[in-house]
Amino acid sequence: MNGINSDSVAALLEHQQKAHTKQMTVSTAQRRERIQQVINLLVNHHQELVEAIETDFSGRSQGFSIMNDILGSLACLKYTRDNLAPWLENDNRDVFSPYDQLGSTARVEYQPKGSVGIIGTWNAPLYTLLAPLACALGAGNRAILKPSEVTPKTAEVLQKLFKQHIDPLLVSVVTGGVEVSAAFSALPFDHMVFTGSTTVGKKIMAAAANNLVPVTLELGGKSPVVVSESCDLVETCKRLALAKSNNGGQVCVSPDIIYLPRSKLEQVAELLLENFRDFFPHVSNNSDVVPMVNRHHCQRVVDLVEQARAAGCEVRSSHKVDSLSAIVSADQRLPLQLVISPTKNEAIMQEEIFGPALVLLPYDDIHEVITDINSRAKPLALYYFGEDQLELEMVLANTSSGGVSVNDCLMHAAMHDAPFGGVGASGMGHYHGREGFLSFSHQRTVFVAPKHDPRGEWGLLPPHHDQFKAMMSAQVIAD
Ligand code: NAD
Repeated sequence: MNGINSDSVAALLEHQQKAHTKQMTVSTAQRRERIQQVINLLVNHHQELVEAIETDFSGRSQGFSIMNDILGSLACLKYTRDNLAPWLENDNRDVFSPYDQLGSTARVEYQPKGSVGIIGTWNAPLYTLLAPLACALGAGNRAILKPSEVTPKTAEVLQKLFKQHIDPLLVSVVTGGVEVSAAFSALPFDHMVFTGSTTVGKKIMAAAANNLVPVTLELGGKSPVVVSESCDLVETCKRLALAKSNNGGQVCVSPDIIYLPRSKLEQVAELLLENFRDFFPHVSNNSDVVPMVNRHHCQRVVDLVEQARAAGCEVRSSHKVDSLSAIVSADQRLPLQLVISPTKNEAIMQEEIFGPALVLLPYDDIHEVITDINSRAKPLALYYFGEDQLELEMVLANTSSGGVSVNDCLMHAAMHDAPFGGVGASGMGHYHGREGFLSFSHQRTVFVAPKHDPRGEWGLLPPHHDQFKAMMSAQVIAD
């Protein structure tokens, strides 16, 4: 547990909570200054961090990690720093009649909750910690971060840097394996953010329930893509191939199942593979291709594809490979795999792929697509490619997903000024923007009574006279 046991995490949390109770009011300037400390840490030490990620992924390119984890996190931190002032202002509300005429006022104040526990995941080992941290600090909280054990070098460097540069009573990092995460999720934080799978998300929520800790769950799912008859197929396939290659497909909002018009199957399959090959002329030892994070995850993706092939599905590969399994023990960079028309029984139709493979499902009628999407757990993302506005509106109105991008993938997740999060099995709660600030703030209603209390004159005080019930009943009206 790297010198930290669950007792010391509990003690750390207690210290943070005591520090919070001592100073519950955190001014805008203090919040901005706290966020700035994290920005400075990232700017000054990003090289060390991206080298650690490169090591953990056995070769994820530093340029990609700067774009994904450093710039992504910085953007969230800076957006919160630069926009939080108006979010903090007390929000005056209308008082009910007739108290409004008697001089009452009411407002909503946004209070920090206290100490926020943030459990991140390995695919974006900094972003899944620091993007929620931006909102937590913006809301005036303190935080303890628990990075994924799957990227241990990154966790170690992050812990060292926070220890060196940030007051542990403001933000601390604890490292360790699944048992540390489990103990962490059972602590009485004032709010808990978890990014990871739906299966573990349920365990986190169950553990948090014991202490009534509110949770934000950033989970995953099989994000569908609806390719319309009306789309520009060449551009659509280029954008899809690019999106699927992002982080080697190890992205929570990666496209997973593509629904396409039956007559376009051949063209779509060829265009996807061709575009992937154009981006990555070779896969093995190509630093532009993000490897699977480790053998276990590489084997998992290969198994999903091989099981479908063994069940009789057609599988096409962007690059010729003698054996996908051989890649597991080589550099873990997989070419794009297209699995065509698997049945619902195949594992690839049940599990999130989280790697460079796509399911292609041809359709004859768009209504079948909507029915099929609605027969599955609600996904984190939904994508529509096409120009038919009526069809787009119909798809949007009749499906549910965490977010949507139209004519591209992943983009909505990068919006700073809009909430990011799942629905149903893909999660609950949001971060990013003002909604992130609200998630980590307690919205406290403050009612200020008038000097004069009219309830006696209105006959509302006990002992109640005979007409009390009649007075109440007279107000039970429908308009
Ligand atoms: P995972 O759920 O297996 O693990 C996540 C973390 O949970 C691990 O770091 C681990 O320490 C912890 N954990 C495991 N068992 C636990 C337990 N019993 N109690 C408490 N904590 C426990 O997920 P993963 O493989 O790290 O990440 C992949 C998943 O994360 C995918 O489903 C992906 O879609 C999702 N994801 C979601 C987002 C998002 O923002 N919604 C972002 C990235 C990844």
